[in-house]
Amino acid sequence: MGFSTDAIHAGQAPDLSTNAVIPPIHLTTTYYQEEIGKHKGYVYSRSANPTRDILQKNVAVLEKGKYALAFSSGLAAIHALSTVLKNGDHVIVSNDVYGGTYRLFQRFLTDYGIEVSFVDTTNLENILEVIKSNTKLIHIETPTNPLLAISDIQAISNICKSKNLLLSVDNTFMTPYFQNPLELGADIVVHSATKYLGGHSDLLGGILIVNSDELYERFKFVQNAIGAVLSPFDCWLLLRSIKTLALRMERHNQNASEVAKFLESQSVVKRVFYPGLKSHPQHELAKKQMRGFGGMVSFEVDDFNRVNSILKKLKIFTLAESLGGVESLVCHPATMTHASIPKEVREKNGLTDGLIRLSVGIEDIEDLISDLEQALK
Ligand SMILES: *Cc1c(COP(=O)(O)O)cnc(C)c1O
Repeated sequence: MGFSTDAIHAGQAPDLSTNAVIPPIHLTTTYYQEEIGKHKGYVYSRSANPTRDILQKNVAVLEKGKYALAFSSGLAAIHALSTVLKNGDHVIVSNDVYGGTYRLFQRFLTDYGIEVSFVDTTNLENILEVIKSNTKLIHIETPTNPLLAISDIQAISNICKSKNLLLSVDNTFMTPYFQNPLELGADIVVHSATKYLGGHSDLLGGILIVNSDELYERFKFVQNAIGAVLSPFDCWLLLRSIKTLALRMERHNQNASEVAKFLESQSVVKRVFYPGLKSHPQHELAKKQMRGFGGMVSFEVDDFNRVNSILKKLKIFTLAESLGGVESLVCHPATMTHASIPKEVREKNGLTDGLIRLSVGIEDIEDLISDLEQALK
């Protein structure tokens, strides 16, 4: 089936007890057992819930995986995947990652005896240099947040296979509509469903997708043992959102491409970061492993004062954290989403105080361009 057909139908046959076309929200914690041990596969909703199962089946199909597991946030899902690491293990993480991912690996997991190396994973040499005998996992974001750098999933997965390491890919920015890391050799895909999958800035969620039975059993155990599950209501809301994912991503992509081109033509803009631009250092790789370039655009201006004056003038782009909703948002990563990364580390990675990140929404492009035009004047 095509992507949109699957997005609307996969896992969602009409409910057989009532013939309801839309699967109901199963707001129950517990389930009737006809006799001890005799039930329909549901015992307690932390372990399994029918609405969650439908969502998990749907997302597994879209990500070309065998299994999906839904968590209460993107970070809960990343935490669950990090449990493949044990005390004494080493993990390699992309240096330009979501601030919360950095915090989880650098300031939380290190307390549990896990060693972390942050490297620029766009360069394979950097990865090969830090692999050690205790390295177990490589975790990458591609494109990265907020610099939109692209890592070669296939090439990194080849390194992982030759060294017996696991590869996890945060696919939040591309969504399964534009990129399928499992097909490029990744072992684990993670999403912050809070962003494009949810798409309306009204729910928090996270998803893991895998093909291996062993990883699935592990993460299912973690989902139940730690308990950070997605609520039945949010599962239903996410199912509803995913039905329009293809339409929304097409429009995000189209609008962001226009915005990136416009910004590149402006003299106050020093640099534009968007994988769809020919000037992007990994534009060719982006065309190879992605089917679109997404809705995120970052750009750099002189300094913090200039940033402030632009942010004050923007009317449609709303100053807020988060991304991936239908409405356009603007954020200043250095003081907002990425404030948990020390200034020296940030600047070394190219995330300066003059950087502005746009989550380009699905409004009319003419309005978005005029808003930027008046703010940059
Ligand atoms: C937001 C985000 C996360 C964290 O997800 P939450 O749902 O906020 O916990 C992880 N990765 C990326 C790329 C994100 O943008």
